[in-house]
Amino acid sequence: MSNRIVVLSEEIANKIAAGEVVERPASIVKELVENSIDAGARDIRVELEKGGCESIAIIDNGSGIEYEDVALVFERHATSKIHHFEDIYRVASFGFRGEAMPSIASIARMELLTRRSEDLAGTRAVVEGGVIKEILPAGCSAGTQIRVTKIFENVPARRKFLKTETTEQGLCLDAITRLALAHPEIRFKVFANGREIFTAPEAKDMAERIAMVMGADFSDHCLAVAGENENVKLSGFISRPEFTRSNSRNIFLFVNSRFVRDNSVSHAVLSAYRQIIEARRFPAAALFLDLPGDDVDVNVHPAKMEVRFKDSRNIYDLVSRTIARSLAAGDAPKGSFVYRLAPREKTQPSGFPRSAENFPPRLAGLYSRQNLQQAISSDLLSRSGVAEAAPLAGSDYTPKEKIAFTDFSYLGQFANTYLIFVGDKGFILIDQHAAHERIVFEKLKKSSGEKIIGQPLLLPEVVSLSPGQIALFSGCVDFLQEIGLEIEIFGRDAIVVKALPAILPQTQSREIIADIADQLADQNSLPDLQERKEKILAALACRAAIKANSVMTPEEVMALCRDLEATPFNVTCPHGRPIIVNFSLGEIERMFKRK
Ligand code: ADP
Ligand code: MG
Repeated sequence: MSNRIVVLSEEIANKIAAGEVVERPASIVKELVENSIDAGARDIRVELEKGGCESIAIIDNGSGIEYEDVALVFERHATSKIHHFEDIYRVASFGFRGEAMPSIASIARMELLTRRSEDLAGTRAVVEGGVIKEILPAGCSAGTQIRVTKIFENVPARRKFLKTETTEQGLCLDAITRLALAHPEIRFKVFANGREIFTAPEAKDMAERIAMVMGADFSDHCLAVAGENENVKLSGFISRPEFTRSNSRNIFLFVNSRFVRDNSVSHAVLSAYRQIIEARRFPAAALFLDLPGDDVDVNVHPAKMEVRFKDSRNIYDLVSRTIARSLAAGDAPKGSFVYRLAPREKTQPSGFPRSAENFPPRLAGLYSRQNLQQAISSDLLSRSGVAEAAPLAGSDYTPKEKIAFTDFSYLGQFANTYLIFVGDKGFILIDQHAAHERIVFEKLKKSSGEKIIGQPLLLPEVVSLSPGQIALFSGCVDFLQEIGLEIEIFGRDAIVVKALPAILPQTQSREIIADIADQLADQNSLPDLQERKEKILAALACRAAIKANSVMTPEEVMALCRDLEATPFNVTCPHGRPIIVNFSLGEIERMFKRK
């Protein structure tokens, strides 16, 4: 090869650019559907053969393209969407780089049929390997139809990187799903090998479209979010804590209707769910950020999947605060358990199930059901004032689907760990440790920042630590003091514990210090101060909570239930494990094959 410098031919330049824009069939689908949306289409149909590896067709009823412009469509940097550089900060359209059509045409065969509704005749164009083969008038319906075949035939290296047809088809569908989420007014239909695999009829609003696209399960378990901060508006839907996923793929973020990935915003979402869902589980969300075009740069990445915010700190705060607020408001206000069970009925529970007469005599004999039912119900009723569960703010739950704790009567403890409650429509088990852990955690969290006075120890306790641990402790003396845990560093390898929060077992200062030391050592890498604090609070809550395997008196159970009702996030413990497990009558009947 000679080392003279030459300007690359248009064809080669397009092929190189295609590497950035057209990675796989899903990228073709994304670019073409975006063009249809930009063209004002209200109806978009996608046909995939062999996962989009063999052929991709997009049929829209958008504006169409004028005969004279068709040749330009395949030229690089030819676009109808911007005319000056500054325009890109104002663009409402997806495209503006004028790269997608020539890029796709350079690595495949494209057949285009298009007509503007005001023209009598349309145009047919064929481009193969970047070379225009034909542009002729042709009859066709208004709108644009594009069929892409021979995909990557002239770039075998790229073809080799494709995954199975099923995977590629899934990725194509992901791309369509994201576009469909942000455009409820557009009808989408997707066919794979002739079979319809996805359909989204015109929806009246975002909520309706989200239900169609993200599934009934999500829309049954979601909360609305809405917040505003300076020029930025946040809206959308997030999953309730009991609905989690094994990865973060179901967190959809849209910035000015454009799907983007943004690590900082994802982190903000996850931070709001911290100590609410289990560590390795993820929420689902569809979030829409709307902000002035000048405050966000969409021209960072050729596929425009990433954006740059002018004030990303502001965005982070808005997202994490709005979601945290919505989660707190959505869970268990007004003392009702956010838990799905059959609708609550106004009638008094009918007689005790016959089979329960054989219940362990200790339970049946000792605590007469009527007494307990009365004791618990009247007590809980009078304290929390719930006769009927009230609708949750911003939630899709109807009051019928929620139950108040008063619907249940306490039966007893199982394995000295689980509290059994029965109601008319089923029974529930409560994990006493998990429940109490959440109560204590929320109490500690509420008091941190307010500075509560700890309970002084009769004898201050000296605890020896390694110099490394001492160094970690010295960084959090003030925070611990705020929650009533008073310590003093004593030389290079010991601390003195002077006071403990009243809810912690006063005799266990050594263990408590060890727990905190573990958390601090673990968290060296955690940059977020708030996150560190919450981890410490969760460890303290675990220490303070009633243990599994300990006997509880009915009075203690009642007190626990009362506290639990008044506690936010009362469906999971601070580590994200469930507090309540529900067995509905229907489920039980199915287990016994009655249904
Ligand atoms: P961009 O979208 O960045 O402008 P593209 O290469 O994707 O660049 O498209 C080039 C041009 O082709 C667009 O600006 C638009 O004018 C035209 N075009 C492409 N697809 C369609 C379509 N489905 N309907 C109408 N016009 C289209
Ligand atoms: Mg485009």
